[in-house]
Amino acid sequence: MTQTAPTPANQPSQPTPSNVFYRSSKVYPLAVRGEGVYLYDSEGNRYLDGSSGALVANIGHGRAEVGEAMAAQARSLAFVHGSQFTSPVLEDYATKLAAFLDLPSFRFWAVSGGSEATESAIKLARQYHAERGDTGRFKIVTRIPSYHGASLGALAASGMGARRSLYLPLMREDAWPKMPKPDPTLTGEADAERLRAVLEAAGPETVAAVMVEPVVGASDAALSPRAGYHERLHAICREYGVLLIADEVMSGMGRCGVPLAVRLTDSVTPDIVVLGKGLAAGYAPLAGLMASAEIYDTVVGGSGAFKHGFTYAGHPVSVAAGLSVLDIVQREGLVATAQERGAQLLVGLRDLQTIYPQVLEVRGQGLLLGMVLGDPATGKAYETPGLAERIAAAARARGLITYPGSGAVDGVRGDHLLLGPPLNISGAEVEEMLAALDGALGAT
Ligand code: PLP
Repeated sequence: MTQTAPTPANQPSQPTPSNVFYRSSKVYPLAVRGEGVYLYDSEGNRYLDGSSGALVANIGHGRAEVGEAMAAQARSLAFVHGSQFTSPVLEDYATKLAAFLDLPSFRFWAVSGGSEATESAIKLARQYHAERGDTGRFKIVTRIPSYHGASLGALAASGMGARRSLYLPLMREDAWPKMPKPDPTLTGEADAERLRAVLEAAGPETVAAVMVEPVVGASDAALSPRAGYHERLHAICREYGVLLIADEVMSGMGRCGVPLAVRLTDSVTPDIVVLGKGLAAGYAPLAGLMASAEIYDTVVGGSGAFKHGFTYAGHPVSVAAGLSVLDIVQREGLVATAQERGAQLLVGLRDLQTIYPQVLEVRGQGLLLGMVLGDPATGKAYETPGLAERIAAAARARGLITYPGSGAVDGVRGDHLLLGPPLNISGAEVEEMLAALDGALGAT
């Protein structure tokens, strides 16, 4: 198999006819193999996975030991239902995960994807208050922009008008008050203080939780608040009897160079932490939440059960994948690698920013990095969106996968590219990413 970037001569194509319901009308290459930071298609093209898919493949592709752990688990115990059994692999994983995240008394609730995990957090927050007799609390404050998932509850919580508008008739808008996005021109404390007005307007006695992405993902290219923000946010939540949920589906599990991004600069322990993506790093569908002992005791020790559940919650084969991935992350020191390679990539991206004026800003933490794109004359996204998609297409033609985002979020146009290769990327591979991006930016 040749190992080249796609050229006009070997452009891949999807099979026709096909019974697959593709996401869009674009042509999808037929991916056949993954190894390290690279993916290969049926035409022999090689792609450097510069975004780990959608910030998922934290340990890289083709790690046989994860597959072997999953196969061994499937052979010994493939499935039990969470209403009937626990399993050794789930018990072991919950303990190791709590230690890795330094959330020692927290309880792990396992599901299959990030949207299920944020839905679970929303419902858990609601039930927690109801168990305490505080039945009037149901609203969840989130930010504009934000992305918490595609299922109806998670989407209702998300501050992404364009993705929500079609489904608004199915949502109760007043249940999801929105606060503004982090403003790095303010001190972290002053920035967080803006929550107060949102709580007061919503009626603080009706609010169950505040949910934020500590480093923003798909909706706003790796934007992060300044030091002090999360601590103050949590303090205000406490003052009003509201829970703080950190949605670390994208930012957690080492991606930002620390186990939890909410603790990048602050000493804070949210009430609920939501995880996904990097948990099993794409080897199996696995996501979940960590809930404080206080929440667990109130709910399970109260009415006796969390009134919620999915058939595949805590699936032993997915959890076995998570356990094996966590072992690799720790054994290979990938949290530190994310910091080192992230710093290298950030420097390279800033160099590109000095050459290409359409790169308005470069930002991020660890290996969750973003390029904000737009019109250098106005410092804003172009009226006609799509620059990010064009750059992503040009990068892909040079053998580099990136994660573009463009369009309007509640009236404000945005164009950005998320970059987040596997955490075990080498220094040389980072340089290869930068060279491909250089070419792509030069061609668009
Ligand atoms: N929360 C955050 C912060 C995310 O970035 C995502 C996905 O991008 C989700 C939730 C939803 O996760 P999933 O796509 O696995 O349902």
